[in-house]
Amino acid sequence: MDFIDEDFIDHNKNNKNNHKKMEVDQNEELPTKFDMEMTIKYVANHGNDKNDFEYTMTEFLRMSGIYWGTTCLDIMGHLDKLDKKSIIEFIKNCQCKKSGGIAACDSHDPHILYSLSAVQILCIYDALDEIDIPALGKYVQSLQQIDGSFFGDKWGEVDTRFSFCAVAILALTNQMNLIDVDKAVEFVMSCVNPDGGFGSKPYAESHAGLIYCCVGFLSITHNLHRLETEKLAWWLCERQLKSGGLNGRPEKLPDVCYSWWVLSSLTIMGKAHWIDGAKLKEFIISCLDTETGGFSDRPGNMPDIFHTLFGIGALSLLGYENLKKINPTFCMPEEIVSKIYQAQILEY
Ligand SMILES: [Zn+2]
Repeated sequence: MDFIDEDFIDHNKNNKNNHKKMEVDQNEELPTKFDMEMTIKYVANHGNDKNDFEYTMTEFLRMSGIYWGTTCLDIMGHLDKLDKKSIIEFIKNCQCKKSGGIAACDSHDPHILYSLSAVQILCIYDALDEIDIPALGKYVQSLQQIDGSFFGDKWGEVDTRFSFCAVAILALTNQMNLIDVDKAVEFVMSCVNPDGGFGSKPYAESHAGLIYCCVGFLSITHNLHRLETEKLAWWLCERQLKSGGLNGRPEKLPDVCYSWWVLSSLTIMGKAHWIDGAKLKEFIISCLDTETGGFSDRPGNMPDIFHTLFGIGALSLLGYENLKKINPTFCMPEEIVSKIYQAQILEY
């Protein structure tokens, strides 16, 4: 799963009234219905035009873009709209022969984020055997540090996102034995804050995206008992604003992608009912761009494929009609994940 783009860049920096305005304006002109046909077209056509400005600009995210698109279409029951053969060919070309890691795009350096996106796409297509899985396992193993943490790539940045990516890749490829899981758990647990949340490293501020990574990590490694679930769920519930939308940290604007990070974490902990699901559904649908069929971060903004996946993913968690069930830990269709790996999920 790739969190490298805007959800970790402060969206609010671009909003000049941000210090005054912590909520969105909601008026009766906002969409109240989700037209799936249009959204299917939006996702299927995304990135089709290789001369498109956006296509060139997002080269560094290409692998994750494909993951967002395939997952989104599969959840809407239309994976057939994408060309499986060319996607698999693209992934094969992105695996580094030397390290075994996978890059966002061929000729780029491999990174654990794109390695996970590639594995998720291959799982969806039941095509894991198309790449060198043992080499990928060795790559992930090589990124674990003595304190149990993980580098994202050879450049040596440490982040709890990478701990999640490491165990997600190894779980989906059945190679968990390659790393020191106990040490990996100790590192993640060293990032818990007094508010019950998690940051990117020890003593870093709690953030809903990183909480998802750490809760997802504990779900994959079957260590959810290490969480103070009541305290953490309470912090997550406080992310819901009057509009029904969720923010990622206190004092921030709501954003569709946090619908996923917050609601999936609560679902894994068996506490999704602690937030107002009907209001959240309303907020997500109000972020649909009726001209294109894509979802944006907030009502009236430009849609993108990232927010479209996380909007639809959250709608699936909320039980929206005609959407396939999504797995809250891996953000992939449940029917795919259930055949591969059983992550820990707490009961209601
Ligand atoms: Zn966002």
